[in-house]
Amino acid sequence: MAYVITEPRTGTKDQSCVAVCPVDCIYTREDDPQYYIDPDTCIDCAACETACPVNAIYFEEDVPAEWKDYVAKNRNFFKDVPSN
Ligand code: SF4
Repeated sequence: MAYVITEPRTGTKDQSCVAVCPVDCIYTREDDPQYYIDPDTCIDCAACETACPVNAIYFEEDVPAEWKDYVAKNRNFFKDVPSN
């Protein structure tokens, strides 16, 4: 389980979540539409969920049905860009 960044963040790339993450597991690349959370590094501290100004971050089990595909989008990002 991990936290997941969902639809409201797409195209915005606010860095509030990145600044508070204690394990630096939130990444993006210049051309990507949003940030992504590495599910293998996230420690489920919830700091990013609280910091997000548009409530786009959810614990994996609590992601709203319309954004469930973002669970895979976050995870798949790290198949292309290994975090370590
Ligand atoms: Fe980082 Fe904590 Fe958010 Fe996981 S829940 S991405 S460890 S701030």
